[in-house]
Amino acid sequence: AEPLLRVNNLKKYYSAANQAGFRHSVVKAVDGVSFDLREGETYGLVGESGCGKSTLGKSLLRLTEPTEGEAVYQGVDLFKQPRKAFQTYRRELQMVFQDPFSSLNPRQIIGQALEEALAIHRIGTPKERTLHAMEMLHTVGLQMEHYYRLPHELSGGQRQRIGLARALILNPRIVICDEPVSALDVIIQSQIINLMRRLQAELKLTYLFIAHDIAVVRHISDRIGIMYLGKLVEEADTDSLFANPLHPYTQVLLSAVPVPDPAARRQRIILEGDLPSPLDPPSGCAFHTRCPYAMDRCRTETPVQREAAEGHFAACHLI
Ligand code: SF4
Ligand code: MG
Repeated sequence: AEPLLRVNNLKKYYSAANQAGFRHSVVKAVDGVSFDLREGETYGLVGESGCGKSTLGKSLLRLTEPTEGEAVYQGVDLFKQPRKAFQTYRRELQMVFQDPFSSLNPRQIIGQALEEALAIHRIGTPKERTLHAMEMLHTVGLQMEHYYRLPHELSGGQRQRIGLARALILNPRIVICDEPVSALDVIIQSQIINLMRRLQAELKLTYLFIAHDIAVVRHISDRIGIMYLGKLVEEADTDSLFANPLHPYTQVLLSAVPVPDPAARRQRIILEGDLPSPLDPPSGCAFHTRCPYAMDRCRTETPVQREAAEGHFAACHLI
């Protein structure tokens, strides 16, 4: 079947002054990423902070304009749409952020914030919007009383429920979730993840779930893509990825995941060095400066994606 969204060769480059402040360099924040979002699935996008995953999410919604590439939704390339035409699709693609309240007015009650989303898209009468907002609070597991609360009167978990309500009140098909549980403690994290799974089934949603922690996406993702310095280095269904990680970077990420069974525990691989600056990425395979298996050719030759098993792709000279 056709994917719900097909992302093809997405690039987001921007220019930045170098440290000396006079020469401009090109930052390749997202550098040729392709993947499909299938209807009803959750695609986990994982990588260290600074790898370009948030930029990728924002580019899909054109919150930042992509430099190159396609995002085909219902046969239409979203990137080629004039601004005005894009707005009609925009409602069907919503985003949930790590801190939903950074975008909320601290003096506005929750109910108004929810209704505002509807008003912007000219949906319903004021009375219908109020009813819809109250229904939405119930949908995300909150009560009527929360309608009158101010943002600062809510806990972190309640805030993220509001973040979800704000996105879902527009009845989207795709929700891009950027680290939606990273600021929450473990118990609240699992409550929100469970809520998201329930909402996904009830409302037939498709998720792009962005996270730096692969353990967080494991139980919600059907497939996972691993990003390193603007590129997708591995993609597979979640079980295959955990059973047989192919890219050395994926192996490092998985070695850090706690497992209860000592026999199944992996040797923890500690990465040397920090994520290199995207201002001056390493040549060849960008991971070669930290890869335990780096060979001569890794410094000069950029590895291409290969399909090692059905639906399991990786970009490494060892594969
Ligand atoms: Fe390591 Fe070379 Fe594979 Fe890159 S291409 S991940 S440096 S072995
Ligand atoms: Mg981020």
